[in-house]
Amino acid sequence: MTESSPATPYTTNNVGIPVESDEHSLTVGADGPILLQDHYLIEKMAQFNRERVPERVVHAKGSGAYGFFEVTNDVSQFTRADMFQPGKRTEMLARFSTVAGEQGSPDTWRDPRGFALKFYTEHGNYDLVGNNTPVFFVRDTIKFQDFIRSQKRHPVTGLRNNDMQWDFWTLSPESAHQVTWLMGDRGVPKTYRHMNGYGSHTFMWINAGGERFWVKYHFKTDQGIDYLTQAEADELAGSDADKHRRDLYESIKSGDAPSWTLKVQVMPFDDAPDYRFNPFDLTKVWPHGDYPLIDVGRMTLNKNPDDYFIHIEQAAFEPSNMVPGIGPSPDKMLLGRLFSYPDTHRYRIGPNYAQLPPNRPHSGVNSYAKDGPMRYVPSNAAMPYAPNSYGGPAADYQRFGDPAGWATAGEMVREAYKPHREDDDFGQAGTMVREVLDDAARERLASNVSVHLLGGVTKPVQQRALQYWRNIDKNLGDRIANQVNGG
Ligand code: NDP
Repeated sequence: MTESSPATPYTTNNVGIPVESDEHSLTVGADGPILLQDHYLIEKMAQFNRERVPERVVHAKGSGAYGFFEVTNDVSQFTRADMFQPGKRTEMLARFSTVAGEQGSPDTWRDPRGFALKFYTEHGNYDLVGNNTPVFFVRDTIKFQDFIRSQKRHPVTGLRNNDMQWDFWTLSPESAHQVTWLMGDRGVPKTYRHMNGYGSHTFMWINAGGERFWVKYHFKTDQGIDYLTQAEADELAGSDADKHRRDLYESIKSGDAPSWTLKVQVMPFDDAPDYRFNPFDLTKVWPHGDYPLIDVGRMTLNKNPDDYFIHIEQAAFEPSNMVPGIGPSPDKMLLGRLFSYPDTHRYRIGPNYAQLPPNRPHSGVNSYAKDGPMRYVPSNAAMPYAPNSYGGPAADYQRFGDPAGWATAGEMVREAYKPHREDDDFGQAGTMVREVLDDAARERLASNVSVHLLGGVTKPVQQRALQYWRNIDKNLGDRIANQVNGG
């Protein structure tokens, strides 16, 4: 046994009992068997075996930081949410991530990036669980699981498989807008600091008078958009797989706190039925010319978590966390996510996940929930039932009730959204190719697609993919076909 110097704390087991050695297990003689009564050894081995929680099925590889959100413009005419009131500053947590890769996968694989935000408001946590893209691959939540499986590993080989990806995409033409975005420059951001974030879905805002609006969020990076070429990304995937995690941590540590300016598009509630695009379809944007961006505020990330596992691995973002003044919309992807996020957290980190440090609201919790595994904060409620005559709590609809949603009626059906005037799967993707990208960006897009299509995609799927690109833009499709067919 070595004596610890007075300045060094002594090692204990998990309940504070001093242990006898950091180096030697208890044996009968130096080369004798290990004894079961070496409780500290047993505790160490058992704890180690349980160090992991299941990784997220999607967005497993992530990085995050704490910060704050400040309002810079008065949008109180659109929402009464306290964090958006003039002069307000709200503490927050952000987690960025890739989507399809596992915990140890490279940060620079081509993939959308998660852009998940948790605001600790006066009225509980507001979570905006977005991406670095304003659109998505599918528009009905019943297809999400299929989509994700097609992007992950092949059931037989355990390998990532381009054929599965293109097979799903080409059979799901609503993916065209998001795939165009993904295969372009923004499909591999230079760092997490150099990408925008979007709420992606349409949400409802409700003002103090009970008036409703539809809203889309845009967090524009103050660092400027920047990206990696495919060659740069491939090189980094081998030489520094944690490039983006390292960049975020080191920039905050060095005092260079990244920030994003929040702007919103606001649509008057009654515009929705006659708008030229279905405003709730997650595969579409609202062109800026139709609904211009309005300044709201700025978020700044200035504090690295002091323990990655506690604060980032256990962070639980959930689109269902909406505070007074904010509500959902008829977006079917959003409505599905309202269930699936809390459900996955219950499975992954346990039913009392809301009591973990990153998930605890900074405002009071007066919930009737009780007990369950790992619960350690007692309930505030006087009695474990409502109503009770011993001091409540009691719901206050007068203060916090918002109009419940939107009018709807009809038979129960399994149907696509009714198309609006200009709705189709390829239109907005084609607009991006023709009107947003320049020639050099179109060339990089064509090259990224052809290299991907030549990476093990079967002939029939490849042929479908060429038609898919011609549907997006004839010239681009022809250019890709030439490259794929060696023309
Ligand atoms: P605008 O010309 O007003 O906006 C085009 C937007 O495209 C820019 O503001 C920028 O978004 C984004 N953009 C620029 N380069 C790229 C790129 N390489 N990859 C992806 N996005 C890029 O046009 P509209 O609003 O009329 O939209 C035209 C098309 O632009 C849409 O069909 C859509 O494909 C795309 N787009 C539109 C967005 C929107 O919300 N209206 C958002 C993003 C893309 P940002 O300023 O957010 O960086």
